[in-house]
Amino acid sequence: MEDLLIQRATRKQAAVAGVFALLILLTLAIAAPRAQLALPPVAPFLPMCALTVFTTACIAAFLLSARFAATRQLMLCALGGAYAYTAVAVALQLLTFPGVITPSGLFGAGPHSSGWIWVFWHGGFPLLVMLAALIRERVKQRPVNPAHVNSWAWALIGGPVAIAVVLGAIAIHLPLPQALNPAADAGNLSSDHTALVILLLNLVAIVVVLSTGRLRSLLDLWLAIAVLTCFIDTCLNLLSADRFTVGWYIGRVFSMLAPGILVCVLVWEVTVLYRRMSEAYASLLQSSVLDALTRIYNRTYFNDQLRKEFDRAKRSASPLSLIMFDVDYFKRYNDEYGHLQGDACLKAVANALAGVVRRPSDFVARFGGEEFALVLPDTDAQAASAIAERARQAVVLLGLGAPTQLGCVTVSAGCATHEHGMLASPDELVSAADAALYAAKRAGRNRVQRAGAE
Ligand code: GH3
Ligand code: MG
Ligand code: MG
Repeated sequence: MEDLLIQRATRKQAAVAGVFALLILLTLAIAAPRAQLALPPVAPFLPMCALTVFTTACIAAFLLSARFAATRQLMLCALGGAYAYTAVAVALQLLTFPGVITPSGLFGAGPHSSGWIWVFWHGGFPLLVMLAALIRERVKQRPVNPAHVNSWAWALIGGPVAIAVVLGAIAIHLPLPQALNPAADAGNLSSDHTALVILLLNLVAIVVVLSTGRLRSLLDLWLAIAVLTCFIDTCLNLLSADRFTVGWYIGRVFSMLAPGILVCVLVWEVTVLYRRMSEAYASLLQSSVLDALTRIYNRTYFNDQLRKEFDRAKRSASPLSLIMFDVDYFKRYNDEYGHLQGDACLKAVANALAGVVRRPSDFVARFGGEEFALVLPDTDAQAASAIAERARQAVVLLGLGAPTQLGCVTVSAGCATHEHGMLASPDELVSAADAALYAAKRAGRNRVQRAGAE
């Protein structure tokens, strides 16, 4: 099964991602000038967003790691690490945010702890995405020793988690100054070095993702959208450090989008793969019971189904008929017209025989070579002979020229019926029909012979 994430994106996928990117940029253009506009405060909005980011980032990290297990692409682990880092950072920010869980935040957090955790989150995520993109380039040039891939995978996921915990501890326990400029200065970002560094990291991440991936694969497309979303989230938060403003609300929504987008793409990919797999399974199942040349049922299906029908006929004490057909003088046909035309003739004969069956339980199978079998449940000997006669005529009506006395392709048929429990096994039914078929051959071909009537 192809890996949809890393195969070339289709035009439609690129167009959808393009529309998404435009909408994101449009939102920034509309929201940026109004970023500091105060909106009614909705107190639960912050914990709700933080929990959403935490959950979706955890799911994204898990899905990416699971994808790594299937594809062994280290880049997926590195991306998983970036989302695991986000999950830890956002959880710490929520727990230390003043006035959310306790008035001053948990773990003895200072007034600036959550601000610094926000800084580490919005600076660390683009850095880790860049790392993932660069790892992909590096692995392309120098593949990692397969024996070390698992160790690298653990390091790429566990490393960012450990870094997030250490940075969180620094933000909580060190007496750091205020992380960003106060809201009053927020419009003037050039004076705030921390804000500039974070913005720069986000911009560089966008450039690295675009230049290394060149939007080729589905993953490249949506990773670009994810880093763009993180950039917009950062911009809006920096433009409005105050809570409950336009910038703050929209920034929070974008912070949910960054991991949410990738989760949606990963889940969508799994859905598409599942659909393709079930289609492939159905077609495999279908082709395993069909004859490759004639596309009617093959011998395996015939054997299984005849056994089932035989048992059913026994249980319900109903008749079961079998007609065996054999193309007359087919060796001559091949010798005269060649094997390819012989194949075409067999296909036409198979179609003609299949055209005779009416009930859903009846079926035609290729028994082997130029021999076909018609299985007719709930059909007595007389009805079976009539159907065999119709089938014989259907083949004559094809009007396929043949080097025989009659001048066209014909078949001989042998019918046998299992009634009143007289036969012990399906093999006996086949032998009886076979014997009738050879009686029809001996009697001059192009005819129907009933078992026991010779
Ligand atoms: P009869 O009337 O007694 O049945 O004579 P026949 O020539 O039909 O019987 P025979 O068993 O001598 O020849 C069967 C021929 O069918 C020989 C074989 O090459 C041909 N045949 C079997 N399978 C295929 C196939 O898939 N394609 C083609 N083109 N020929 C096949
Ligand atoms: Mg034969
Ligand atoms: Mg034959």
